[in-house]
Amino acid sequence: MADLSNKERMALPMVEMPLHPAEERVKNFDEVPIGYSPEQAQQEAQRCIQCKKPGCVPGCPVGIDIPGFIKFIEDGDYAGAVKRIRETNFLPAICGRVCPQDKQCQIDCVIGKKGHSVEIGSLERFAADYERKNNIRILPDIAPDTGKRVAVVGSGPAGLTAAYELIRNGHAVTVFEAFHRPGGVLVYGIPRFRLPLDIIDSDVKFLEDMGVEFVYNMIIGKVLTLDDLLGEEDFDAVFIGSGAGLPKLLGIKGENGNGVYSANDYLTRIYLMHGNLFPEYTTPIVQGKRVGVIGAGNTGMDVIRTAKRLGGDVTCYYRRSHDQAPARAEELRHAEQEFINWKFLSNPVEIITDENNNVTAIKCEKMKLGEPDRSGRKKPVGTGEFFVDEIDTIVFSLGCNVNPIIPSTDKEVGINRWGIVMVDPKTYQTSKEGVFAGGDTVTGGSTVILAMGQAKVAAENIDKYLKGEISWAEAKVPTDPDSPGVIWDVEMPKKKKDKIMKENVDHRTAAS
Ligand SMILES: Cc1cc2nc3c(=O)[nH]c(=O)nc-3n(C[C@H](O)[C@H](O)[C@H](O)COP(=O)(O)OP(=O)(O)OC[C@H]3O[C@@H](n4cnc5c(N)ncnc54)[C@H](O)[C@@H]3O)c2cc1C
Ligand code: SF4
Repeated sequence: MADLSNKERMALPMVEMPLHPAEERVKNFDEVPIGYSPEQAQQEAQRCIQCKKPGCVPGCPVGIDIPGFIKFIEDGDYAGAVKRIRETNFLPAICGRVCPQDKQCQIDCVIGKKGHSVEIGSLERFAADYERKNNIRILPDIAPDTGKRVAVVGSGPAGLTAAYELIRNGHAVTVFEAFHRPGGVLVYGIPRFRLPLDIIDSDVKFLEDMGVEFVYNMIIGKVLTLDDLLGEEDFDAVFIGSGAGLPKLLGIKGENGNGVYSANDYLTRIYLMHGNLFPEYTTPIVQGKRVGVIGAGNTGMDVIRTAKRLGGDVTCYYRRSHDQAPARAEELRHAEQEFINWKFLSNPVEIITDENNNVTAIKCEKMKLGEPDRSGRKKPVGTGEFFVDEIDTIVFSLGCNVNPIIPSTDKEVGINRWGIVMVDPKTYQTSKEGVFAGGDTVTGGSTVILAMGQAKVAAENIDKYLKGEISWAEAKVPTDPDSPGVIWDVEMPKKKKDKIMKENVDHRTAAS
């Protein structure tokens, strides 16, 4: 370890994450960031001054010992670094790639007050990749078999995290997934150029090695009900992590035209069904030449960059300003480098179609910023001036609502007026005995790490429930249909929680 004073550390330049050049990367689906070399990682780690009261840690929804793992990297002990991360985070290679660090841990890094905060996400990614490439991951200790069985519904980050925590506690775990493969949004939403498949698959394989059973093509609510799981199927508890995959549209004229997609549909057709390789694969997708993407959140960035890689001339329409775009700073920056057309302060009001109902154009109203709204952001207001762009494919990227199948088929599972599953914010118990929930199901579309954080707390409470340490009768599940649902519930300063909550609301209301 270099013997540097804090002043010297703070004067060190940030080590930029190396990227593939934009003109090359838009021609393929390879991962865009290249990753730090060991030397670069050590150099970046030297910028951390090992704060006694680190601002970064409270911003991490799973409470990683950030200075601790960074110190290991600085000392060249990469295995030690990943071991330290794994004490609290089951999916570091994924989180290092997709977490909104700029809005969570990095936002309160003291180094960021005068310059650029320490690149915590890039360092986490480096440590996790080192572990995977060198095949040094070891199975954690597993508690003796409790004889209890838990069903996990959904294999997104919430379901995978719950499965990991539960099996470690000695419970038998079966994950039921509606699709033919695991991963949830990590696989069918987040593109390969941000998150390669082998990373997700290696985490799933790890769970299988620990003894978790995966059942695919199984829709809970349709094929088996919750009562079946808790009855005939003989599970002692259920965790619902079925996510938020129900698309939002704007309700404007022309939305049912040929060539109109929701982001989830568009991305799923490409990344799960390989629609871009039709007819080799059976699910077709219109490969638009002029593609309009509505919304500037993370999902919007993923759609824009995917459409670009499929050869489209892509324009992003967003009714607020550039500064208000809710996408992660890094995603916005990468998209901006990739030859996209931007139309901020542009509110789509109609999709124009021809006599065959094929999309031909989009009509938008020009907007200007007015007074601040409830979210504190200046509200976009119409100018009465309109423009029309020729377009053949439209993708709505406005966020998603909670998957409705389970609550609609089991009325004992209480939801609010937006379809969010209501849970006790401390224990994550639902209004149905033995059933817990976490992730996007209880927040609406949110983030990977928040889904994981909640699943972890839910799993801890399932464990307590199975041991008779907490009871369902004492759960405090909101019944008010206007209750917003769980946003956040680990020990963290209120100011920080409010900030994260606001970011999540922004993320959910990408186009609002
Ligand atoms: C395109 C896109 C990009 C995103 N980018 C980011 C990002 O960069 N960073 C970030 O932090 N977050 C991002 N998010 C949000 C993040 O992916 C989600 O918050 C997270 O995946 C939620 O995890 P989950 O496990 O709750 O749900 P999901 O990941 O949605 O997983 C739910 C799983 O449950 C399955 N399922 C649903 N219903 C049933 C049923 N009835 N029976 C059985 N299985 C069922 C689904 O098939 C799915 O596999 C993005 C979201 C999208 C859509
Ligand atoms: S706040 Fe920044 S400098 Fe301080 S411990 Fe965390 S990463 Fe290191």
